[in-house]
Amino acid sequence: MHRSITLGLFASTMAVSALAAEPRGFDVQHYATTLDLDIAAAQLRGETLVRFNATAPLSQLVLDSGELVIDAATHAGEPLRFQQADGKLTVDLAQPLAAGEHASVQLRYHGKPRFGLEFAPARNEVYTVFSTDQWMPSINAPDERATLLLALRLPQGLRTAAVGDALPSRQLPDGRIEHRWQLRTPMPGYVYGFAAAPYRHVQQPHGTGMLHYYALDRSEAELSQLFAATGEMLDFFAERAGLAYQGDYRQALVERTIGQEMAGLSLMSEAYGKQVLADASQTGLIAHEAAHQWWGNRVTCAGWEHFWLNEGFANFMTAAWLQHSQGEAAYQEMVQGWEQRLRALREKGADRPLQYPDWNKPSVDDRAVVYKKGAYVLHRLRLELGEEVFWRGLRQYTQANDGKSVVTADFQQAMEAAAGRSLQAFFAAWVYGVGGELG
Ligand SMILES: [Zn+2]
Repeated sequence: MHRSITLGLFASTMAVSALAAEPRGFDVQHYATTLDLDIAAAQLRGETLVRFNATAPLSQLVLDSGELVIDAATHAGEPLRFQQADGKLTVDLAQPLAAGEHASVQLRYHGKPRFGLEFAPARNEVYTVFSTDQWMPSINAPDERATLLLALRLPQGLRTAAVGDALPSRQLPDGRIEHRWQLRTPMPGYVYGFAAAPYRHVQQPHGTGMLHYYALDRSEAELSQLFAATGEMLDFFAERAGLAYQGDYRQALVERTIGQEMAGLSLMSEAYGKQVLADASQTGLIAHEAAHQWWGNRVTCAGWEHFWLNEGFANFMTAAWLQHSQGEAAYQEMVQGWEQRLRALREKGADRPLQYPDWNKPSVDDRAVVYKKGAYVLHRLRLELGEEVFWRGLRQYTQANDGKSVVTADFQQAMEAAAGRSLQAFFAAWVYGVGGELG
């Protein structure tokens, strides 16, 4: 996905509109998805209603559908023609739409995902891992935001943690339970997800919401202990973002995963939970996923080429949290780690600009650029601008882009506005180039 970028010229009035030139020809407003989950067989059946607006004359709806098998597409009960190829579903609309017109399509499908949805039958557990199109036809691109109503049909005795707010669950005629969740704030599809198992569950009040912790292998006391800093982390990030945390925040330990941020929900592994219990200083991943609630979920890179605006930020904010909670040495240790990795990248000629031409097949080194160099560059910008200007700029950038998609130039513009001067030399070297002196 490409969009034209206006490089942030100082005092430029050419604001980058993240919504300009919508390439899909439509904008999804809402998904309503019901999933029948068979944990023992590791498969699912689903139905998804997609409500969308045409943003240009539109005769087909094209969605990402992973390896799902679409059984039917309908509109108002009438069948629609559709095809699937290369992970995309193309539905022919009953009649072409003019720009501004609304329509909806109902999809029925099944699948046995190899990834994106993990089944752990021995634990009676199922949970998502980022690839939302492996369990509901949707848009993978991070600049598409929609609300979601999610119903999860499961055997009795399981607890679910999902995105948004829990609605009352209901018993189905066959004895299973339908767990219902509603995400009222439009969010990108890649932060949709859930976890279900016979979890232990601990909840604690925080601000106007609740903190929830879930795990199978940990006792309630252990859950409270290992997630003890969550409330303070959210407060710290809210202060840095200039935006209060909204709603409840849920964290679940699942069989195995990398850390995963979703809307109001983060998943980590049972192994990581054990590690934090053994050493309370190992809370970096908890902080990283919590930081994503602002940098990633609420302020989202418009395309994966700008992924450092999610990951470099989450890493940097983790270090800032460690500095706040554990002291300067903990911050400097992370900075040294980033700098060493960047030095190694440069030595092997693998350093890259933070803004990628595309993010189709990132290597391990490309990930290091986005995650580690990205964080390191924020640290260098902090040194360049000083505490007051840096944090004011970061706060203004975050507040101005809440609920929006951002490109790198949006960040440059915000920091230039805070600094009252051009930062073109800094950004040309560190962000758009591979310059900048280490050490
Ligand atoms: Zn991350």
